[in-house]
Amino acid sequence: VRPFEYVRPAALSDALSLLTKHGAAARVMAGGTDVMIRLRMGHMRPGVLLDIKDVRELSDRIVETGGVLRFGARVTMTELMADERVRRHFGALVEAATVVGSVQIRNRATLAGNSCNASPAGDTPPVLLVYGATLNLVSERGRRSVPMTEFFTGPGKTVKTPEELVESIDVPLPTARAGAAFGRVTRRYGVDLATINLACRVDAAGETRFAYGAVGPRPFLVVDKSGVLADPTAAAEAKSTVLRELISHASPITDVRGGRNYRLGMLDVMSRRALATALERL
Ligand SMILES: Cc1cc2nc3c(=O)[nH]c(=O)nc-3n(C[C@H](O)[C@H](O)[C@H](O)COP(=O)(O)OP(=O)(O)OC[C@H]3O[C@@H](n4cnc5c(N)ncnc54)[C@H](O)[C@@H]3O)c2cc1C
Repeated sequence: VRPFEYVRPAALSDALSLLTKHGAAARVMAGGTDVMIRLRMGHMRPGVLLDIKDVRELSDRIVETGGVLRFGARVTMTELMADERVRRHFGALVEAATVVGSVQIRNRATLAGNSCNASPAGDTPPVLLVYGATLNLVSERGRRSVPMTEFFTGPGKTVKTPEELVESIDVPLPTARAGAAFGRVTRRYGVDLATINLACRVDAAGETRFAYGAVGPRPFLVVDKSGVLADPTAAAEAKSTVLRELISHASPITDVRGGRNYRLGMLDVMSRRALATALERL
């Protein structure tokens, strides 16, 4: 590991001015479960490592505000899994958080860090996509909100600039009946990254949303507004046609975690399973 400066400010203003000063030479660390590995492997070579764990304005709380559940930047997987409101309204998020790494990893890994890392195989982004989440960013220049659908631009890349921090993530509380499910395929049962992952959400009006991970350069959302997938009386062939069209937006590659055709095949299988579970929950 090349030497770097380690800073752990307590005030948001200090953190933001450091980011303005150092730009891309500064790297942010929350739980460090991605950052530590990349530092050790030499994939990340910061001049300054900005540890945000003590920044009091970056909350470790989940609060209900203005029709959303707001997850502060320091909320960990373990914390959100235990939260009664998250369990009641966003069960698929709990399902995704539950498979992230191991107990030790989940105790450190933040929800915000999972999105900022922008791995195409991250487990919580597909769920946040189907739930219609928004990320709240802050820098010395001010605040802006970015819908999850516009956040990812490629592997490891987002619209967030080096001067910005994710302050929180907002997930709209449901205003009508809905059901959702998360699923993934891995090579082994635990502590593995997804070969594919997905989330499905169906609402009472018949809209079905899928979001897919590890089958393209970034997680992405597709929506069936026709109502066919949610309609128990629709013909199986009609459902297959709609599903095929949604899945056609995936562009998986062959890598160590699975072949392109295997991924495409499992997308179909897992989409049907996630849809069935989401419909049951609806
Ligand atoms: C053994 C192991 C197993 C894992 N298994 C899984 C798995 O199954 N599924 C999965 O999805 N992930 C997995 N991960 C990856 C990891 O745990 C998650 O991506 C985690 O959620 C990242 O959060 P963190 O707080 O540790 O982020 P960090 O490592 O601190 O940061 C990750 C990235 O986000 C940036 N960042 C973090 N917080 C902010 C912020 N508030 N504002 C701006 N930028 C920020 C950092 O600069 C960095 O680029 C695994 C990791 C390990 C080591």
